[in-house]
Amino acid sequence: MRIYLMTDMEGVCGIVNFEDWCVPASRYYEKGKALLTQEVNAAIDGFLAAGATAVTVADGHGCGAVDSTLLHPRAELMRGWPESWPFFLDAAQYDAVAWVGQHAKAGTCLAHLAHTQSFGYRDESVNGVSIGEFGQFALCAGELGVRAIFGSGDQAFADEAQALIPGIGTVAVKRGTQSDPGHCLPEAAYSRHNVHAVHLSPEEARKRIRAGAEAALRRAAQESFGLLKLPAPYSRVTVLRGTEAQPPRVARNTHPTSIIQLFRQPFSFQPIQRCDPLALA
Ligand SMILES: [Zn+2]
Repeated sequence: MRIYLMTDMEGVCGIVNFEDWCVPASRYYEKGKALLTQEVNAAIDGFLAAGATAVTVADGHGCGAVDSTLLHPRAELMRGWPESWPFFLDAAQYDAVAWVGQHAKAGTCLAHLAHTQSFGYRDESVNGVSIGEFGQFALCAGELGVRAIFGSGDQAFADEAQALIPGIGTVAVKRGTQSDPGHCLPEAAYSRHNVHAVHLSPEEARKRIRAGAEAALRRAAQESFGLLKLPAPYSRVTVLRGTEAQPPRVARNTHPTSIIQLFRQPFSFQPIQRCDPLALA
């Protein structure tokens, strides 16, 4: 079993907000990278215990978040790709995809630091199914025939993953407390909207991630879960929040046969009066 492990930063235990932890200018950025990398290593230990033969770690956080000096000796690190889906995932090289440090999609209740691509997104949907970063990559994997078997992050992310892919193994390392989804907040206000959460200790989080990753891979050998597919043709609707300079905007794209090709299309945003995606259907 060869695993492609996608990583992000906002869903890591102990990452308490964006500005102090998640960008190079943050005072705790290096500590944040260590926290993510230790969660990654815990997942790798679990996968290896369940029989994985290779793990490639994709550093998926915008400015990077894996500390290569701390990375598990059995793993490879992938970074520096062009901005092109599906980031070198393919069925010839990988049998399964997993996530560590993942956060929920934009506008999720009881999530921590929820967003999709940036805090400027209101929503993205494919064929009417609202998806975030997890769903985007899981759809690419599904199109390629690569199973999505495990993910760790905050509780709202775990719920999102289970709802899209019943049976996927999940571990929650913290839980957000903001019950207002903040749907129509402008970008700047939304970036400060769901910063409250209750975290496990990082040590306990890593223990659960190791056990969860091992259990998920063992179960994947027995059960057939993990392929997310939607019927073609494909239509993507992307809604951006307003900013001080611009009103909310929407972009629509379609592709007759391929979600990966759909995701590669450029956006052409048009201003809208309301941010509610349901009003745009
Ligand atoms: Zn992200």
